[in-house]
Amino acid sequence: ATPTALMVGTGRGAKMGILIKNGEVLEAVNDVKTVVFDKTGTITVGKPQVTDIVGDEAQVLQIAASLEVSSEHPLAAAILTRAKTAQITAKAVDNFQAIEGKGVSAIIDGKTGFVGNNKLLTDFKFDNVLVQQEIKLQNEAKTVVFVGLDDRIIGMIAVQDVPKATSSEAIANLKARGLKTVMLTGDNQRVAQAVAAQVGIDEVIADVLPGDKAEQVQAFQKNGKVAFVGDGINDAPALTIADVGIAMGSGTDIAIDAGGIVLVKNDLRDVDKALALSRKTFNRIK
Ligand code: ADP
Ligand code: MG
Repeated sequence: ATPTALMVGTGRGAKMGILIKNGEVLEAVNDVKTVVFDKTGTITVGKPQVTDIVGDEAQVLQIAASLEVSSEHPLAAAILTRAKTAQITAKAVDNFQAIEGKGVSAIIDGKTGFVGNNKLLTDFKFDNVLVQQEIKLQNEAKTVVFVGLDDRIIGMIAVQDVPKATSSEAIANLKARGLKTVMLTGDNQRVAQAVAAQVGIDEVIADVLPGDKAEQVQAFQKNGKVAFVGDGINDAPALTIADVGIAMGSGTDIAIDAGGIVLVKNDLRDVDKALALSRKTFNRIK
């Protein structure tokens, strides 16, 4: 492509809220075969809300909120908001620990408390006595976390994050171009499947630990170029390794730095628009 054509292409993108960091990225977009999406904050709005509480509501919320005060996870924000609405005050905790892709733990009132998923239950060697209720909630596209205190599970909190209004249309447009669409998430398989069904995603890879996202992207590169779309700190390695890294403008600074393209409007339909722009830019020349 001529430098002029590239300037026109990137300029057009900028006007649409699609920031393209360099011409090479714009060219790579043309050959993309697979588009891999992060779930939370990328396909979904990223503002989960508490929908169900199993157990003694006041106690479950108080323990969970006290532990989640120091967490930066969107799930923590949902729990704290609900605790505030219920006028529950957090207690002080010691030894707070964030356990990547699993949850949090801390000492509260001299006892070990935790909030987290199945993997964390296994780590703490707990029997999942609430498995039936867990499955039911997950099939409703709700993310479930267990609340443990001392040596028992005191309850469960379900949190739901809805897809962005334009996610379905965006996925349909990409599929109409013959592209394969994939969701890659740290969330549970059933929740991920339920969300994928809502937006029409072809394939789901769930229960992925943050450190393993990049490796999953590499696996798809065997079938051609891959675009990865994400927003979180834990998406940065995948954004870097992908042929085209596409970051949400609402994403963390680390994700925005790692992306070759930034979608200022946070609208997934702009992935397809970037493809169209690339095609236009590179067909006009030569
Ligand atoms: P993703 O961003 O794809 O949802 P994460 O790796 O951030 O994936 O989280 C994966 C899972 O780990 C969450 O769905 C949740 O079950 C659990 N988890 C992570 N952080 C927390 C937390 N602060 N409190 C409770 N559970 C958590
Ligand atoms: Mg995310």
